[in-house]
Amino acid sequence: MRGEELVFFGWPDLAGLMRGRGFPAADLDQRLETGIGWVPVAQAIGPLSTLAPSPWGALGDVWLVADRDAHARVDLWPERPPFHAYICDGIAPDGTPWEACLREFLRRALDDLEREFDLRLMAAFEQEFYLVEGLDRPGPNYSIIAHERALDFGAVLVAALRAAGLEPETFEPEGGPGQYEVNCRPALGLAAADRALMVRELVRAVATREGYRATFTPMIAEQGFGNGVHVHLSLQDHEGAPVSHDPAQPAGVAAQAGSFVAGIMRRLPALTAFAAPSPVSYLRLAPGHWAGGAAAFGADNREAAIRICAGRLGPGGVDPRQYNFEFRPADAAASPHVTLAVLVHAGLEGLREGLPTPPLVERDPSDLSDAEREALGVRWLPRSLGEALAAAEADEAVRGWFSEPVWQAYGALKRHELAAAAELSPDAVIRSYLDAY
Ligand code: GLU
Ligand code: MG
Repeated sequence: MRGEELVFFGWPDLAGLMRGRGFPAADLDQRLETGIGWVPVAQAIGPLSTLAPSPWGALGDVWLVADRDAHARVDLWPERPPFHAYICDGIAPDGTPWEACLREFLRRALDDLEREFDLRLMAAFEQEFYLVEGLDRPGPNYSIIAHERALDFGAVLVAALRAAGLEPETFEPEGGPGQYEVNCRPALGLAAADRALMVRELVRAVATREGYRATFTPMIAEQGFGNGVHVHLSLQDHEGAPVSHDPAQPAGVAAQAGSFVAGIMRRLPALTAFAAPSPVSYLRLAPGHWAGGAAAFGADNREAAIRICAGRLGPGGVDPRQYNFEFRPADAAASPHVTLAVLVHAGLEGLREGLPTPPLVERDPSDLSDAEREALGVRWLPRSLGEALAAAEADEAVRGWFSEPVWQAYGALKRHELAAAAELSPDAVIRSYLDAY
């Protein structure tokens, strides 16, 4: 390669991106010890690169301190610099976690789950994206033609993910023209969120180096198939044994897992403000997009916000290690750390109150009558970011999960995004999110 290798230290930010600083790899050992200085107000920069009002001004300091386990170095391009990045904690100058460190926010939720219920969370993020440049032309959706047309990209991507230790499982054509999905193995708690963030950065990095352009924006056009980030969740005991499945229960939902899911279901309108947090997210969440836009719990129901994935049935029935719950409304405008943290907080409430497993909805929510929807407790998720924010702001319990600075900063950031979008044509809004993600 020409030039000097650089390393990037970044934190997961409220816009679902990784922001931070680059420096010469020659200084890596020292930087791993000391971290690198950074600015608190960066947590108030939105996806369109504008600064929202926030509790942080021009003042103050915070340190990006790298997690050696959240590291990727991919050196597959003889002529080009390697991809080299660490996900970092935000650390205050006195050495304590910074008030708006999102890894710490997630870590605390996971600690509560472990301390109160002796449970650990396994999670995997299924991430969809479009190749909007670089493909000769898209192939028919889900086809081997579409697979072949992106194979040069896919082959390098899988090698890159493997080199980064992200355990790739599938690279596959999706339902839109030029749309693909990438899946990696599940990981525990914090590592799962880190993995989701790093996978997105690697997809973009590989695309850039290989002459493609990848975007995870929730929608690339007003109509069509969106890009989802489906979060697969399952619970384990402290020895790593899966505990979500109980063959004696309806649909195999173990009582504790059912309470966890019920907790999430109850808070869905508010959770949408964090999981589907951009104006374009709501083009995707419309019915008929398989985006899980209905607050319903279903087995293999792609319109339900939470779907049971029982996995493939073997001779002994369900394999409890595969059995999981898929949260479908999320997209890549959300921070994976925030998404997972709010899911854990909501699930924890369900556990604390011993909520019963929600009723199973076996039909497409659009096909139900109003009375049937009412009987099953099925609602539509908020239909706009404004509605979702209002739901979150009205929910005192949700507010209590956040530190005051993060709550203030998040609300201000999202209101700022909404105001900016209101000034633009729908096309221009879609284009700016396509560029950002
Ligand atoms: N693209 C859909 C979404 O926006 C999901 C399609 C699928 O089921 O994988 O969530
Ligand atoms: Mg998919």
